[in-house]
Amino acid sequence: MTDFDDLRAIVTGGASGIGLATADLLASRGARVAVLDLNPDVPAPLHGVRCDVSDDDSVTAAVASAVSSLGGLDVLVNNAGIGAQGDVTANSSDEWHRVLDVNVVGMARVTSAALPALRDSLVASVVNTCSIAATQGLPNRVLYSASKGAVLSFTLAMATDHLDDGIRVNCVCPGTADTPWVGRLLAAAADPAAERAALAARQPMGRLVTAAEVAQAIAYLASPLSSSTTGTALPVDGGMYGLRPRPKA
Ligand code: NAD
Repeated sequence: MTDFDDLRAIVTGGASGIGLATADLLASRGARVAVLDLNPDVPAPLHGVRCDVSDDDSVTAAVASAVSSLGGLDVLVNNAGIGAQGDVTANSSDEWHRVLDVNVVGMARVTSAALPALRDSLVASVVNTCSIAATQGLPNRVLYSASKGAVLSFTLAMATDHLDDGIRVNCVCPGTADTPWVGRLLAAAADPAAERAALAARQPMGRLVTAAEVAQAIAYLASPLSSSTTGTALPVDGGMYGLRPRPKA
């Protein structure tokens, strides 16, 4: 027996990077896992369901389909997200709305659709993928940081609202993680090797976080064994949140 045996989980954005590592880990620990993604092409035993978290009808249908296939729901991992670069002038109003719609409203939509099923679970838990950008001022990430600041705040508010429902709500705050997303960013840089080295050097451990490490933190928060933990933000960032080592000479 493991802590996720017989539990039912949804992971949004679970077809790539942190979401895929999380879906695989939960499945390996005994959960039945539905992946809700724009591209739901995932290997068995994961169950792919096409979903655009920025579309109300798509979310309603996908959550209903997943809950029906899984036979209920115990764990929701709100992980789907997109990036945005630049200072406050860099993105049009339409782009602000698009990113906030996916990164913030998307998590609210999916959680709202999943709530009735979560209320029926005896071990219900929601984990949101936030970011180090919610708490630290990173260069040229104004819009993305605003979206993740919102995720941090609504994690706390939702955790409070659902105390009496027995639904725990927490978030993880990864530093820069080695995922296809960051791979795409590096590929677009003028000097990808130098950009990668700069991102690694920014984290006190001197390397990027792995998707598997973030998945372990998500599983810790989602596990019924963590039953007193709610309203927390867990950094997985190579020390970036709390440490200030002297720069290497
Ligand atoms: P990724 O691009 O590898 O995976 C994201 C997944 O989300 C993809 O499968 C994509 O299809 C899906 N997705 C995107 N828009 C969607 C939509 N509208 N509806 C449904 N699915 C959608 O990215 P990743 O690096 O694994 O990032 C996952 C999460 O982790 C994001 O919320 C991101 O903000 C957060 N995060 C990433 C890093 C990092 O450095 N990679 C750091 C901190 C936080």
